Amino acid sequence: MTGDTFLDDLRRALPDLRLLTDAVEVEPYRHDRTAHLRPGQPIGVACPADTREVATILRLASEHRVPVVPRGAGSGLSGGAAAVDGALTLSLERFDRVLHVDADDLYVVVQPGVLNADLGRAIEPLGLFFPPDPASYEFCSIGGNLAEDAGGLRCVKYGVTRDYVLGLEVVLADGSVIRTGGRTVKDAMGYDLTQLFVGSEGTLGVITEATLRVLPLPSETVTALAFFGSPVDAGRAVAGITRAGIVPATLELMDRATIRAVDAALDVGLPADAGAVLLIESDAGGAAGERELDGALAACRDAGATRIDRAADAAEADALRDARRKAHWSLARGGVARMEDVGVPRSRAPELLAAIERVATEQGIRVGVFGHAGDGNFHPTFVTDPADPDGERKVHDARQAMYGVVLELGGTVSGEHGTGLVKREWLVRQRGEAHIRVLRGIKAALDPLGILNPGKMFLDP
Ligand SMILES: Cc1cc2nc3c(=O)[nH]c(=O)nc-3n(C[C@H](O)[C@H](O)[C@H](O)COP(=O)(O)OP(=O)(O)OC[C@H]3O[C@@H](n4cnc5c(N)ncnc54)[C@H](O)[C@@H]3O)c2cc1C
Repeated sequence: MTGDTFLDDLRRALPDLRLLTDAVEVEPYRHDRTAHLRPGQPIGVACPADTREVATILRLASEHRVPVVPRGAGSGLSGGAAAVDGALTLSLERFDRVLHVDADDLYVVVQPGVLNADLGRAIEPLGLFFPPDPASYEFCSIGGNLAEDAGGLRCVKYGVTRDYVLGLEVVLADGSVIRTGGRTVKDAMGYDLTQLFVGSEGTLGVITEATLRVLPLPSETVTALAFFGSPVDAGRAVAGITRAGIVPATLELMDRATIRAVDAALDVGLPADAGAVLLIESDAGGAAGERELDGALAACRDAGATRIDRAADAAEADALRDARRKAHWSLARGGVARMEDVGVPRSRAPELLAAIERVATEQGIRVGVFGHAGDGNFHPTFVTDPADPDGERKVHDARQAMYGVVLELGGTVSGEHGTGLVKREWLVRQRGEAHIRVLRGIKAALDPLGILNPGKMFLDP
């Protein structure tokens, strides 16, 4: 069989390669966090230790026409790293080193398996930080962040992962190795392949090294919570903050269901009668930070905020941020939770939030909404009773209706979690056939045999 011959050749070419083929060992690598998906059965999992091993794996995979699924830490929410029948899963977990930190030129060189939070911890003592901070930062890798163009809590001010990539080392489908970009802030040579690989979800090449921009750590952060009667009022506050030209470091929303779930789980003292809360932070420092926070809170009062609390100290601010990061986990304690990821122009957020409530009510399911309100990027999380045999269908119908509204509002069906397996149909609806033809052309140019992460992003031709 092709798979067996391929594995034999792989063992011969790389006798030291960590290669798992035992079903029990392979099992943890089949899923990502897209719980409702039923992943395929891979022929094995390779855990290479260096670029040479990755290159050999891809060269042999091309020769044998065996598909390869690149995998970071498996925290994805669109099925990008989910195993494919008959494919080899290629885990980058052993690429876990920060190779170089340059505090003068403000960049780092890292391997893709480094966890986002570990990078933060490695450079904080040097007074530096890497701004993209997905809520999953403790358990997602830089490679996955690059491949999904991850966002996070600070992105309203600092931008998303793609804004911090200077250069990449990438192994292509045929095993050749290229370097894109470099270490300079500006670079105008040729097509921008660096940005092409960012957000490519493992379908164009395997990232084996990244040169990333970092910034000096902000001196101090001030934090407040603004409570509202409804998410729609909170959405109006976000529009007001944006209109006033204020750019907080964090501008996150949780609705009533999320507030209650988080408080039940973590006991942070949030009022159960609040319809929504905005977590607002400024890291401008000193008087500028106070002014920025005051301006944002004034916009909240104008939008009808019912209560405003300022964090007393850094520990309280950390606890509030942590509570927001655990929103999905808290909601998931109440049933089968399916986290969504949609984005609209910020001024359309109130309409989106009203529509989300409506589609959940129509299906008779619960929904908790939280997310990066400052980016117009929300994570409606539909929660169903595990005993409801119709739960999955109801969530499906609610999602379809919600995506339709998102596109009517000029939004995007994914702000940061990607297309993967779960949004392929909507990629076509959002972008149109002509756009998809260009994407397929790019895919064919880089991966002519179609061995990299097949079935992801694109519906079958
Ligand atoms: C509770 C929770 C909260 C989350 N919050 C956020 C959030 O705030 N913002 C956000 O953006 N996301 C969030 N996510 C989603 C997820 O954490 C991100 O998409 C993350 O970037 C995935 O990283 P990973 O290492 O786990 O990648 P994986 O899930 O392993 O893979 C994701 C994709 O990247 C590809 N890939 C991985 N490594 C490489 C590589 N080296 N080369 C080429 N392709 C590669 C895979 O093939 C796959 O298509 C959240 C997830 C959870 C469970």
